[in-house]
Amino acid sequence: MANVTASPSSRSLQDLLKAAGLKRTPVRIGVLEVLVAEQEPLDVAELMRRLPSFTEPVTVYRTLNTFVAKKLVHRVRGEDRSWRYAVGDLTHSQEHQHAHFVCDHCGKVECIQDAEIPSKLLDKINPGPGYTVSHPEVVIHGTCPRCHDRT
Ligand SMILES: [Zn+2]
Ligand SMILES: [Zn+2]
Repeated sequence: MANVTASPSSRSLQDLLKAAGLKRTPVRIGVLEVLVAEQEPLDVAELMRRLPSFTEPVTVYRTLNTFVAKKLVHRVRGEDRSWRYAVGDLTHSQEHQHAHFVCDHCGKVECIQDAEIPSKLLDKINPGPGYTVSHPEVVIHGTCPRCHDRT
C-alpha cells in the first residue's frame, strides 16, 4: 500500500504492532490506519470499503480478532447487532474502558472517550460467585446531533 510509508502515524502504528508482539502485515497496518483515522466504530463492511479492494474479508476478520485479543481494538454492537470495531485511546488502551453511544435513529455508534467506565462499577454490579467478567460494556442510547437537527 503506497500510502503506508514513513509518515509519523504509520511509524507509531508499527511500534504498536511490535509492542503487541504482532508481525507487521499490510492488512494489519491498513486496518489500524483506517480505525485511527476514523476514530469511530466501524463494522466489517465499512472497514472493507476503506481498504484496498483486493483485501480478503477473512483476513480482516482474523486481524480484528487478533487485535481484540491483544486489546489494540475494542468492539461494540450497534442497533443491528453487528460488531463494530474501534481503537481507543492508544496511549492507555490496556486499562481504559469507555461508554458508547448508539443513535436509535441512524444507528451510528460512537466512542465516548471521556466517559470512562469507573472500575468501581464492577464491584457494584457483580453477577455473583462463579461468574467471570471479561469486561463491562456501557451503551447509551438516544438521538445523535445530526438526527436531532433533522427532526
Ligand atoms: Zn443519528
Ligand atoms: Zn469505543
